[in-house]
Amino acid sequence: MIACPECGEDGDLRRDKADIVCDGCGHRWSSASGVCASCGGTDLVKRPRPLTQFSRGTQLSIVGWVDVDCCVVCDADALDRAVAAGGPLPAGYIPAAREPRPSGAASSDQ
Ligand SMILES: [Zn+2]
Ligand SMILES: [Zn+2]
Repeated sequence: MIACPECGEDGDLRRDKADIVCDGCGHRWSSASGVCASCGGTDLVKRPRPLTQFSRGTQLSIVGWVDVDCCVVCDADALDRAVAAGGPLPAGYIPAAREPRPSGAASSDQ
């Protein structure tokens, strides 16, 4: 659960693009900087992820790289896999640190 770092409010929070806004006190902070959107933890690591776009229909091509925040708890599986694969995250991977995961939707594709 995310709570406002200023007033501790955890109900009247809303997202504004990449920010989180507290309707209790008006404090605004970036959800991309250090707070996991799924568990509220602050143990985040940055990982490179390829930016891809479809060219010629179904061919995915890498057009760049972006560093994304991953939660060492919620994104542990993806981080493990990324390390095993040499570093980068899978293309299109949305870290749980950025998009809250519905609980119980943990990956079962071992
Ligand atoms: Zn607040
Ligand atoms: Zn987390």
